[in-house]
Amino acid sequence: MRRRLIKNLIARPVTEPRPAAYGTELEALGERLRGAVARTLGASLTIREVDAGSCNGCELEIHALNNAFYDLERFGLRFVASPRHADVLMVTGPVTKNMREALERTHRATPDPKWVVAVGDCAVDGGMFAPSYAVAGGVSAVVPVDLHIRGCPPNPRQLLEGLLALLEKAEG
Ligand code: SF4
Repeated sequence: MRRRLIKNLIARPVTEPRPAAYGTELEALGERLRGAVARTLGASLTIREVDAGSCNGCELEIHALNNAFYDLERFGLRFVASPRHADVLMVTGPVTKNMREALERTHRATPDPKWVVAVGDCAVDGGMFAPSYAVAGGVSAVVPVDLHIRGCPPNPRQLLEGLLALLEKAEG
């Protein structure tokens, strides 16, 4: 036990360093985002994620925004558990008929002004799931959408670029 404790105390972390070039680009993007958040909202941008029927591929990329590599909170973005605390609804997937009412209720529960960001090709028009009997359509078939971020799935960098475009458009 003591040997293991000493070994753990002197061992180096087993994580890999992130690529230097990509880190620099990410920092620049993050700084632009932080500035846009400060100018439009003052402090932070809060996001409520809604899975309206996705395959969860888009969720994996969205979750990555919170990992140690991207760490988006340092740029002033935060995921929240309730739509009542959200500025942005980030919606993934085709909207299934079973999730339609939940999405409508979540939209109504989000205070104005609010933005809806549809994430992934399925969120645009149902994508590969569009012909299914269980699908109501893309997100805009159910609630008004302010921004589509395409991709299957879009990667975290594309998500950050999309949010930046949304804020810069709001700035006018
Ligand atoms: S866009 Fe791709 S990853 Fe996202 S929900 Fe559709 S199939 Fe899955």
